[in-house]
Amino acid sequence: MMKIPFNKPGFSGKELAYIKEAVARGHLSGNGYFTKKCHQFFEKRFRIPKVLLTTSCTSALEMAGLLVNLKPGDEVILPSYTFVSSANAFVLRGAVPRFVDIRPDTFNIDETKIASVITKRTKAVIAVHYAGVAAEMDAIQAVARKKNIPIVEDAAQAVDATYRGRFLGTLGDLGAYSFHETKNCMSGEGGALLINRKALIPRAEIIWEKGTNRCQFFRGEVDKYTWVDVGSSFLPSELVAAFLYAQLTHLGKIKEKRKKIYNFYTESLSTLAQRGEVRLPIVPKHCHPNYHMYYLLFSHKRERNRVMAALKKKGILAIFHYIPLHLSPMGKRFGYQAGDFPITEDVSERILRLPLYNDLTLNDQKFIVKTLKSIIS
Ligand SMILES: *Cc1c(COP(=O)(O)O)cnc(C)c1O
Repeated sequence: MMKIPFNKPGFSGKELAYIKEAVARGHLSGNGYFTKKCHQFFEKRFRIPKVLLTTSCTSALEMAGLLVNLKPGDEVILPSYTFVSSANAFVLRGAVPRFVDIRPDTFNIDETKIASVITKRTKAVIAVHYAGVAAEMDAIQAVARKKNIPIVEDAAQAVDATYRGRFLGTLGDLGAYSFHETKNCMSGEGGALLINRKALIPRAEIIWEKGTNRCQFFRGEVDKYTWVDVGSSFLPSELVAAFLYAQLTHLGKIKEKRKKIYNFYTESLSTLAQRGEVRLPIVPKHCHPNYHMYYLLFSHKRERNRVMAALKKKGILAIFHYIPLHLSPMGKRFGYQAGDFPITEDVSERILRLPLYNDLTLNDQKFIVKTLKSIIS
């Protein structure tokens, strides 16, 4: 029987050569040759004042939590329809998550609902760009700026996607990327913090390097390094950076490949959409996605679950996410309950994500589409 996984890591072919080079260079801890190559790649290509590779997007978000100076009882605003780290990185500092419902079209935070949950304790708005499609950053910036609240972009899924021509992750005060195996471009585990506000750069470097001014020392700006602030070990080894750099050299190709796959789904499934059997992804005109994800929205949870099970029987792994954070055991501890965010709860029950990875073949994709159509009609 055919077996089509949900995700499969793709390679540029240069990964092992670059790892070999890192070994030959004899510097395997962080912040070496390949780390700097990755930093420069992003800083130039996406016009970012400062990038710091991290061991994951989760740890980049944790750095953001430290940089916005969260204190116990402070609040952060974010959607409930997201990955756990969007909340956990800030809850770890004692912050209280103030969830907001999502828009029914892009499943991003409903920007019109942010103002009503802002309080004196609000210390950050976390803008998650779901599926590599931008949240409404103009409106989010307008409401946050009025109250001087920093914006952290969780751009984990959004590397190489844009909003009104600007790259996601570069629009807020801070941004976070993920290079987890399931993302478009990856290093197994990995991430980056984007520092878009220059004033935050010195402290970001210190937090990154275990609370020391070691970055300054390496640049020759101080004659010894020492403990100057809080921090942790957020930097990945050169082996990870070498692997990642090999992926980055293919960033354009990766998007091209995924775009083809994405468009084939849309073209082949449009008849089902026209008949009202499923809803396809909606991408606003001013948002250019990176084709991170393809999903279908079914009429009912029952139908979604039936299709998911039938696909699995045919060897095709389609999955859904997220369990809304406000309905999780942790969410309930913060006092949330069913019914609080109706659109989030509804989407979570009706969504199904289809296999989409860089090397998904046209043959496999045709099989997925044919099987879907036979299950649905
Ligand atoms: C993948 C993901 C993360 C976590 O990324 P890691 O690199 O695995 O820590 C955070 N937020 C969102 C929205 C994600 O999709």
